[in-house]
Amino acid sequence: MSSGLPIKLNGTVIITGGTRGIGLAYSCAAAHAGANVALIFRQRREDADKAVEEIQKKYKNVKVKAYQCDVSDVEATNKTFHQIDQEMGNLSGLMANAGRSVVKPAMELNEEDFRVVFGTNVLGVFNSCRAAAKIWQESHRSGSIVITGSMSAQIINQAATNKPLTQAFYNSSKAAVVNLTKGLAAEWAPRVRVNCISPGYVDTDQTRHMDKNIIKHQEENVPLRRFAEPREISSQAIFLLSDLASYMTGSDVVLDGGQLIW
Ligand code: NDP
Repeated sequence: MSSGLPIKLNGTVIITGGTRGIGLAYSCAAAHAGANVALIFRQRREDADKAVEEIQKKYKNVKVKAYQCDVSDVEATNKTFHQIDQEMGNLSGLMANAGRSVVKPAMELNEEDFRVVFGTNVLGVFNSCRAAAKIWQESHRSGSIVITGSMSAQIINQAATNKPLTQAFYNSSKAAVVNLTKGLAAEWAPRVRVNCISPGYVDTDQTRHMDKNIIKHQEENVPLRRFAEPREISSQAIFLLSDLASYMTGSDVVLDGGQLIW
């Protein structure tokens, strides 16, 4: 699951939600590029242990460790990031990737759903970015951040029934992170670069639970006629994180197989 690109990373990279799906592909790509990787997960310890074992087996020269932390909790996030900087050394990058979705018609969404979705996708991303930037500011170091957004910030997908997919909170939370990316990039330049990557559909747990007919319909809607594989997202994300993208900040890179053309 490496990016396949000749990219070199130093120090330690934190990947929130780095234990499965797109985040696991980020973790593998960062280790492949030579970084120590700290994988943050919320509750599925078995997946975290499996991910650490898989990466460590493949990339023997880097340190790999998983940390349990709910990024919607600001104190826990600050504490965990400091612990990682101390234990693994020289935090150099952050991939703020942890995200959650609630799929329900808007009429049925409630405050708890809002807390789950915005708490992780917006507040969690903000907490993670600020915790990393604080470390860099206090130690007079610099760093790079990549946030995972989504194509759904720009498009409301139609399901097989020709009705919009019901993810009002998710879609709006992903629109928020594009703007958050620009705001943080402007505020923290030149010390910290902040970029966003916005995938279309990717083959992960989040999409696997979808109805088969909807998956088929959605694949037909993509000019490239398929969902992305996680490694096709990680290759771009690692590029953005690295010095190869040293003049990029505040950008939103859309990776949608051409879906936004139509
Ligand atoms: P998965 O659902 O497969 O994995 C989510 C990861 O995030 C898990 O490691 C999970 O930990 C972790 N996580 C969730 N909430 C928290 C939290 N509050 N604190 C810390 N960790 C948390 O996600 P995907 O790989 O599908 O998606 C990754 C990102 O990409 C998300 O931001 C998603 O919105 C975005 N995205 C996904 C697309 C897709 O088609 N899959 C398309 C476009 C964007 P645990 O396992 O312990 O629960």
